[in-house]
Amino acid sequence: MTEQRRIIAAILSEATDHPDVEELYRRASEVDPKISIATVYRTVRMFEEAGILERLDFRDGRARYEQATDDHHDHLIDIDTGEVIEFHNEEIEILQRRIAEELGYELIDHRLDLYCRKIGRSKAGGR
Ligand SMILES: [Zn+2]
Repeated sequence: MTEQRRIIAAILSEATDHPDVEELYRRASEVDPKISIATVYRTVRMFEEAGILERLDFRDGRARYEQATDDHHDHLIDIDTGEVIEFHNEEIEILQRRIAEELGYELIDHRLDLYCRKIGRSKAGGR
């Protein structure tokens, strides 16, 4: 169990995308075929509660995960392909702090997800 936990932790720290539990399970199975999806679920929940992992919801009905880091970023989600792009914009960061302050608050944290369609791609059309 501890070893399987270590495998899942390693996969998460190597991931540059935002995998869901099924994808984590697929990657973990390549390292240890005996690993079960229940173990992956349990481990992910444990890491989330410990603050090691952040759960993300990009409105496609699947919880995705990424390692919690100090360097903050926001997400742009391509609604046609599901691709997730990370970005950081200092103007947005400053603006959000200012909005909070104007309302009498200190900004502690925020999450910003932009749902986008690539310019030039038709709504019904191909990817
Ligand atoms: Zn991210």
